[in-house]
Amino acid sequence: MAMARESVAVAARSTVSAEAKLALLEELQRCADIASAAQSTAEWLVTHAGAERTIVAAADHSRGRLAGIAGAGVSTRQYKKLAFSLDEPDHPLVNALTNGSSFSFHRPTDARIPLFGDSGFTSVKVGGGGEDPALGLILICPAVEGPPSNVKWAADALSRSLQRVSMLPVGPVEGDPRLRREHALLFNIINAATDPILFTNMEGQLIIANARAEMLFTAPDDVSEGRRRAVQLNNMFFSAALSRTALGEGEAGRRELLLVDPTEGSDLLFELLSTAVSDPREGTGVVSILRNITDLRQATRQIDENYARLRTAEAEVRAERDRLNLLIDSVADPIIVTDQEGEISLMNNPAGRLFTVVSGSGEDAQRIVRANDAHFTSFVSGLLSTGWETTRRGEIALMDPNTGKQVPVEALAAKMLSEVGELTAIVTILHDRTEAIERNDLYEQLKLASEELEGKVRAATAELANQNELLRRQALELEQASAAKSQFLANVSHELRTPLNAILGYAAMTLQGVSGELSAPQRRNLSRIDANARHLLTLINEILDITRIEAGRMPIQVVAFNLAELVREVTTELEPIIAKSGLEVVSRIGDLPIMRTDRQKVKQILVNLLSNALKFTPKGSITIRAQVQGKHTITVAVIDTGIGIPQADHVKIFEDFRQVDSTPRRAYGGTGLGLSICRRLTTMLRGTLKLESRLAHGSTFTLTLPTTLKK
Ligand code: ADP
Repeated sequence: MAMARESVAVAARSTVSAEAKLALLEELQRCADIASAAQSTAEWLVTHAGAERTIVAAADHSRGRLAGIAGAGVSTRQYKKLAFSLDEPDHPLVNALTNGSSFSFHRPTDARIPLFGDSGFTSVKVGGGGEDPALGLILICPAVEGPPSNVKWAADALSRSLQRVSMLPVGPVEGDPRLRREHALLFNIINAATDPILFTNMEGQLIIANARAEMLFTAPDDVSEGRRRAVQLNNMFFSAALSRTALGEGEAGRRELLLVDPTEGSDLLFELLSTAVSDPREGTGVVSILRNITDLRQATRQIDENYARLRTAEAEVRAERDRLNLLIDSVADPIIVTDQEGEISLMNNPAGRLFTVVSGSGEDAQRIVRANDAHFTSFVSGLLSTGWETTRRGEIALMDPNTGKQVPVEALAAKMLSEVGELTAIVTILHDRTEAIERNDLYEQLKLASEELEGKVRAATAELANQNELLRRQALELEQASAAKSQFLANVSHELRTPLNAILGYAAMTLQGVSGELSAPQRRNLSRIDANARHLLTLINEILDITRIEAGRMPIQVVAFNLAELVREVTTELEPIIAKSGLEVVSRIGDLPIMRTDRQKVKQILVNLLSNALKFTPKGSITIRAQVQGKHTITVAVIDTGIGIPQADHVKIFEDFRQVDSTPRRAYGGTGLGLSICRRLTTMLRGTLKLESRLAHGSTFTLTLPTTLKK
């Protein structure tokens, strides 16, 4: 016994340190017999629990006796004096052994218990409970005030120890120190095992448990409620597992058992290995070894999870590969995947047409495929042979095995590297350049044609510029010629008018009889001279007007005037001719604004139009209608019921010297210049002159002018 005994007795302590309790438990574990366990407990009570004297008595129910087997604070003789039969039911200590759990004897007068003189003492039962008889008593002096919890705890520890020790073969052990040592050693070995080890009898009662098993399956009185419940549960699970094993369920003698860690409350998974052992003396029992497989199970679960994850990843990779295949197949350009050795490992359909021999194809097709393969392999091995290049671009001359036609392709090969930079594959994409080459050719042709066209356009433009220059010169020459002509005509007209006026003057004087009386034939001839000379003068005047206009020598003089007045003036001037024609001339003049334009030119136009109407209207009437049209325009129409003008001549009559009837035998006189002068004057006044006429129904000439002529 290693515990030091204190010299001063300590008053009954209410609390004992956990270390002290642990020390007793360890000590009891080491004890291989009942006496030494009882002695250790007695001494512990004196040292740690405040007892002054202690006696431990053991009950031998088979012999019906209770005898002191250990003591502390008392002599051996003294505690061995305690010995009496259990058949005395009224003996106070027999009563203490069979009833209740503790008794205090304050002034023991009974001569049968002269243990501590007349000092009071407390008796606490060791073991016993339910149907089991008590194993003995701990008697402690002085009597404990209040509940003897520490003594009870020590009694429980001793009880468990005694149960354990009682399983050991007692006789030889007691007698043979070597065997005792061996047993102690064996027990220590079992205790040292980290796996819980238990021995139960056939009823399932726990006979022996090592320290680890005790931790799981036993609970001292003073432990927490939670821990007690955990221990109860563990016992329940263990018994159930044992009974199932006995029934032969599951794998023989090996099954899983889920228990609760009483200190931490966590789940613990054990593998239960139980073996039946039979001993001739102790009968048959079951040895159970519990192997903690919590971590193992967790590891297994982890492995399962990892495996499942691996399977999922594998499926994903497979799906990805299928998708990739689909993608590669849907690309129109040939794609070829080669391994590290340059062997083709994958290709899409367009590539398949170039690099695989279709069964039943001819010798030529096979030769082409072989040649294609050789060209491709040499291209890829070019990339493989260089360690630093990751891509390669180049042209390969391939042929279509089906048609035998050249397929010029541009190849782009790229190395596929793993995360650690290891070459995994080479992917090559071939791009058919046939179309691009054709397009290029076409483009070249187009460029050529376009350049040709450009040249032609340039030549044509130069020619045009030449022509333009020529035309410009011609126009200049014409202009000069026209100016010369106008000048010539003006000069000639002037030179003609002077002698003509002299002729007219002398003819008039002679007709008036200045040179004497004229005979009738003389007068007739002279009248003809006068008429022809007047016609010639008109002609000369009109030619002079045209040449003046063309030479730009006809100035415009804008004045404000009343158009109605002007119309009256014109009809008055032509009155002799109107009277001679016998026609009715009607003027219909609306409300007109004051006009601001060249009055003289408007008058010349109106005189001309009215003269023509009188000339070409044998019968009927002539109407002059003037009215406003719009805000800034007036129209003057000269309407006759005369011979009319055929449609074909509507444009022609406005040209110089043009007449509808220009034959020498024509019915009407005239120069054919009147309308062309009218047209020119109208243009100068920024107006228009229009004709509507039907043959034999009459004509209408409509003059439209702006009321105000802006310069
Ligand atoms: P001319 O001096 O011949 O009248 P014009 O230039 O004034 O010259 O007229 C040209 C021709 O237009 C005339 O010769 C005539 O044939 C035709 N003409 C002009 N006015 C009329 C009209 N009111 N009715 C029919 N014919 C006309």
